[in-house]
Amino acid sequence: TYVVTENCIKCKYMDCVEVCPVDCFYEGENMLVIHPDECIDCGVCEPECPAEAIKPDAEPGLEQWLKLNADMAKSWPNL
Ligand code: SF4
Repeated sequence: TYVVTENCIKCKYMDCVEVCPVDCFYEGENMLVIHPDECIDCGVCEPECPAEAIKPDAEPGLEQWLKLNADMAKSWPNL
């Protein structure tokens, strides 16, 4: 899965939302998150993010962000 990280906070360009084929972005007050069970790992959103906030979860050190994306995707509205 792909993960939205701290560069997204207070940014929200939304370019990623436009390209995601499965609509797995969710929106909170300050940032977006990706639902890890819905993401199909296509990778098209990563280069679309002007803030470089989207990263593959295989990248080291993203455990906390992956957990936040998973937790928040359950309570925030789908885009
Ligand atoms: Fe959507 Fe693909 Fe990005 Fe996953 S990797 S959030 S499926 S665009």
